Amino acid sequence: MPKSGFTRKQSKNVPQNFFPGDDQHQRRKSEDTPAHRPAAADEKGAPSAEKHRPPPPEQRARRPSSEGRPDKELRAYQADGPVEAVGLQADAEFWHIFDDTKTLGRGHFAKVKQVTHLQTEEEFAAKILDKTMADNDIEDLVREFQMLRSLRHRNIIRLYAAYETPKKLYLVTELASGGELMKRLGSDSSVYSEDEVRAHVRTILRAIQYMHSKNSVHRDLKPENVLLSDMGDEAEIKIVDLGLSRYFEERKLMRTICGTHKYLAPELVQCDRGQLQGYDKAIDMWGIGLLTFIMLYGFNPFAREVQRETHNAIVRATFTYPDGYNLSKDAQSFVGACLLLKAQDRLTAEEALNHRWLSAEAPSSPGALLSNEKRPVKSMLSEFNAQRMIGKMVKGAHRRLSGGGEGDKGGTPAKPAQ
Ligand code: ADP
Repeated sequence: MPKSGFTRKQSKNVPQNFFPGDDQHQRRKSEDTPAHRPAAADEKGAPSAEKHRPPPPEQRARRPSSEGRPDKELRAYQADGPVEAVGLQADAEFWHIFDDTKTLGRGHFAKVKQVTHLQTEEEFAAKILDKTMADNDIEDLVREFQMLRSLRHRNIIRLYAAYETPKKLYLVTELASGGELMKRLGSDSSVYSEDEVRAHVRTILRAIQYMHSKNSVHRDLKPENVLLSDMGDEAEIKIVDLGLSRYFEERKLMRTICGTHKYLAPELVQCDRGQLQGYDKAIDMWGIGLLTFIMLYGFNPFAREVQRETHNAIVRATFTYPDGYNLSKDAQSFVGACLLLKAQDRLTAEEALNHRWLSAEAPSSPGALLSNEKRPVKSMLSEFNAQRMIGKMVKGAHRRLSGGGEGDKGGTPAKPAQ
């Protein structure tokens, strides 16, 4: 069984331990945590555990209010304080706390499910990893746990709880039920303007600036990882998937080659090719520039049919802004100042937030974004999204590429390139 370090102390009956390596992450005594308290567990691990079948309604731990309905004031988790990982003896115990609502997403070995807290009826997302299947993914999930528990930002998905059983790891986070920002932009009926893109970029950038100020780097910024809190018009952006994120030290380079091919920064490809020794947090600024380009122009300028060609285009870092789009010069200048070959030449998150395009004085551009053929960028984005979905099904996710390892707690054995 792979080791995780998730939970440090646990009862003799719980032979796991991936969640984390400090004293705050102890196996929780169930009597301390009434909202988490699992129903009586089957000593051997109930067979239903593997099927994720919730207990029958009469055995569920809902706390009735005076009207006989769950108490809406009751919260599943405390608003503040650090999240501690809880060791459980069997998967069935998790499903005595949560109801399985539906599957939201699937990685190689991890599944993301929408779950309902049985006692309070609050909805969450649970990222579930089968420990028996995946080594690198365990490290990613543990990293995600460590990172998320140290970050509190309204635009970064909030971690509420973590559980570990002999077979699985569970991260319970805020639910972002509005789907991907990029899909919403390409599909809803509202006018899709430069102003709208500007507002989204500002929000994403503030979250990244917050991460960088905490010496954390995301390393996998891409459309799939920018979600919306709900389906409403006022939905908030939520950045997810911090599995590749890590802490960095100023003036110390990172070396693990990871990310998703079409969104890699040039220095990552150069590291992969042995042409560079490392990279720093500026990779996230490439990600910001690329997300902005895609939102403004409706396509990824570096994507090619063949992966090697994509990498070649990235390391050349040359791309053209198609003529004839009704975009401001400032928008183009912002993108250009992020998508620079040399990491040290790129805007920092701080500088980017002070760029003219994002300033309060920037002239408003509320009209629908149109391409040079006067085609709505919204419809191009919709095609871009459809292609991404096909690519995802054919190739699966790309996480770590070849080679790498930071030689410290951030280092992780690499997966072969795909
Ligand atoms: P992986 O590390 O396997 O790529 P992600 O964290 O990116 O997993 O999640 C996979 C997919 O699950 C996401 O692209 C998204 O569609 C969905 N998802 C992840 N987290 C949430 C969440 N908190 N709320 C709603 N959907 C989510």
